[in-house]
Amino acid sequence: MALQSGLYVVATPIGNLGDITARAIDTLAKVDVIAAEDTRHTGRLLQHLAISKPMISLHEHNEREKSELLVGRIASGQSVALVSDAGTPLISDPGYHLVSAVREAGFLVSPVPGACAVVAALSASGLPSDKFVFEGFLPSRSAARRAYLGTLISEPRTLVFYESPHRIVESIEDLAFIFGGERQMVIGRELTKAFETMLCGTILQVKERVCADDNQQKGEFVILLRGAVPAVAQESVTPECDRLLRALLKEVPIKLASKIAADVTGIGKNQLYERALVLQGKRD
Ligand code: SAM
Repeated sequence: MALQSGLYVVATPIGNLGDITARAIDTLAKVDVIAAEDTRHTGRLLQHLAISKPMISLHEHNEREKSELLVGRIASGQSVALVSDAGTPLISDPGYHLVSAVREAGFLVSPVPGACAVVAALSASGLPSDKFVFEGFLPSRSAARRAYLGTLISEPRTLVFYESPHRIVESIEDLAFIFGGERQMVIGRELTKAFETMLCGTILQVKERVCADDNQQKGEFVILLRGAVPAVAQESVTPECDRLLRALLKEVPIKLASKIAADVTGIGKNQLYERALVLQGKRD
């Protein structure tokens, strides 16, 4: 079936070439033209998929000018796919101006979802994933990075950052400086690729492992940080609540103990889980 004219925002793999959906392949095969962040890079993916298609380069330096051209093509009835080098376009990648321009002109913009490093990392991190804040790339200079991280110190939701290999060690050091070494963190490295690793632990534990192994400083990274336990709620852990938790911990596993105590007291179960770790002597 032919595609309706409009813009299709197509996710491509973040490493493993198997991570592309059947609909993404179908869309790339059927559109009139593909707008790609790097045409050589996308050319290799298309070759792998045995798709031959005209491409237009669309990157951060020419996006506004190319958006006008592409809106014109859609106005004349064509269908356009937008892809970036990896993952979902617009997520720390070009495409925002094009999507806005096509929407403003009143034409179809349709997502063809798939891989995205932030979601992949979060889904396997073991950190709370019901609410999270994606912060993209941190400032590249340490002073600015520390200042920015300082604004996130009381954020209760899980924090997610992208980071490049030449800044990974410095960024972990800055996380320790601002959040203290005991906050839980996870680093997802080279996800879906041959040397994928997920390092989990306190900031200091993870830093030690990254610094001790040069390989852990290579590749692509997603940094995840457990959110802050809200200060007000922390005060509400009363001696009664501690007694209840202690009694439950003698009988049931920590997760269930925290859940039951949360149901009884109305205090958040993540907070009670943290408190239970303290009571068990596993956390200061
Ligand atoms: N649009 C992409 C997405 O959907 O995730 C992100 C593009 S952004 C320019 C590239 C950054 O995403 C990398 O520097 C890294 O922080 C993260 N990233 C991309 N692929 C990754 C992977 N396979 N493993 C870990 N991080 C990855």
